[in-house]
Amino acid sequence: MTIAPDTTVVLGHRFAAELPEIALRWQAEAAPDPRLLVLNETLAAELGFNPSWLRGPDGIGLLVGTALPADAEPVAQGYAGHQFGGWVPRLGDGRALLLGELADADGRLRDLHLKGSGRTPFARGGDGLAAVGPMLREYLVSEAMHALGIPTTRSLSVVATGRIAQRETQLHGAVLARVASSHLRVGSFQYVAAAGELEVLRRLADHAIGRHYPDAAEADNPYLALLDSVIAAQAHLVAQWMLVGFIHGVMNTDNMTISGETIDYGPCAFMDAFDPKTVFSSIDSWGRYAYGNQPSVATWNLARFAEALLGLIDEDQDRAVELATESLQQFAPQYSSAWLAGMRRKLGLGDEVEDATAGQLTDDLVELLEGEHVDYTSFFRRLADGVIEPPFEAWATRWRALSPDVDGMRRVNPVYIPRNHLVEEALTAATEGDLEPFTRLLVALSSPYDEHAGLERYAEPAPEDFGRCFQTFCGT
Ligand code: AMP
Ligand code: MG
Repeated sequence: MTIAPDTTVVLGHRFAAELPEIALRWQAEAAPDPRLLVLNETLAAELGFNPSWLRGPDGIGLLVGTALPADAEPVAQGYAGHQFGGWVPRLGDGRALLLGELADADGRLRDLHLKGSGRTPFARGGDGLAAVGPMLREYLVSEAMHALGIPTTRSLSVVATGRIAQRETQLHGAVLARVASSHLRVGSFQYVAAAGELEVLRRLADHAIGRHYPDAAEADNPYLALLDSVIAAQAHLVAQWMLVGFIHGVMNTDNMTISGETIDYGPCAFMDAFDPKTVFSSIDSWGRYAYGNQPSVATWNLARFAEALLGLIDEDQDRAVELATESLQQFAPQYSSAWLAGMRRKLGLGDEVEDATAGQLTDDLVELLEGEHVDYTSFFRRLADGVIEPPFEAWATRWRALSPDVDGMRRVNPVYIPRNHLVEEALTAATEGDLEPFTRLLVALSSPYDEHAGLERYAEPAPEDFGRCFQTFCGT
């Protein structure tokens, strides 16, 4: 099948052409009864699609991967990874396909990628499918993250396929079309490095530099500069997660991007009451990926990235280790400075407030929030509105003395986040055929800093009986 002529979509295949060793030509499985559940029209337009064309049969064919432009070369990407600390030499896209690259309105290259498009040679025991609920979940949370200004892959559409996925019960299958500045991960580098192919590794690193960090090509040591760039991007990213109370849930090295975008919204969730030990994922029994562990896990993952790059950093292994170690030591100060800058904005502190003062105020606040088990998100909005609970009075007196900009606080502290009980409510209705709660929640999450009349309930923490046993699931 070929694409209808009323669109000018050109799917490039730079990744497949430059890195054939980790790009496996593959086709999406047929979708017997495709039904478009949600389409991101704004993103579609940014990518040069005509949204009404995408809603038609040829467009939907593209969104499930069964009707591609004649010269498209869909591939399953190979990668390895450390999952919960354990090395897995071959993971790869078991149920996903890179359809190709698109140039967006700004001329930036973006991957168009499918999840749930059928088994590939990387599927191992998996069925290659994804269910409607988890794909709508990724759509909702990734779009919420984008609206919060946090680097992330985007969601273009979810199409129900008419296939049935056997899980604990039978579920309706779906394909998510997502868009990323690339799908290169730490695990991509680990896969190639483990194969011992230095030439392929260099090509992969050059490809990553070309796509994400072109300035690194000009550095004395471009591969060390690549490492530094990824460290900086991840330090910034994880600080943004921490500032909004986001818990990724499965920070395996195959789920950490080179671009610094958040990827793979499986068991992720937002924290309600502030507690660094918060974990929602059903499989994270040891709390490895708990809220408060995320900065140190990121450092651990980046150390795995650095190891993969050693052969490129310097021919002398000891020298390479020395250089990489110095680079990794930059994560902590970069993370702390991004966190503090974010906290200063959340608290409305102006430039005249010294870092030491702001830092002390933040540390004391975090201690109070934890001790009082306060709802993290609404605390800052209420603070801007002058609503202060008794245990915070003394702290608030110090804060007020710094003349905080409360209007500025309202521009950076969200009213709406994808609260677990709201996401569950929307997904339960959607899987029963009612997309209305999903759509309503999506509207609120798409402009998270503006209060919407009639959506007050969406700004409130979960009812008392909800949070305690809430769990999220992986790979569903
Ligand atoms: P994730 O937890 O989604 O990052 O996935 C980890 C690995 O498992 C990746 O290699 C996925 O492609 C693979 N995987 C997850 N679910 C499935 C499935 N239903 N069928 C095939 N592969 C899967
Ligand atoms: Mg993954």
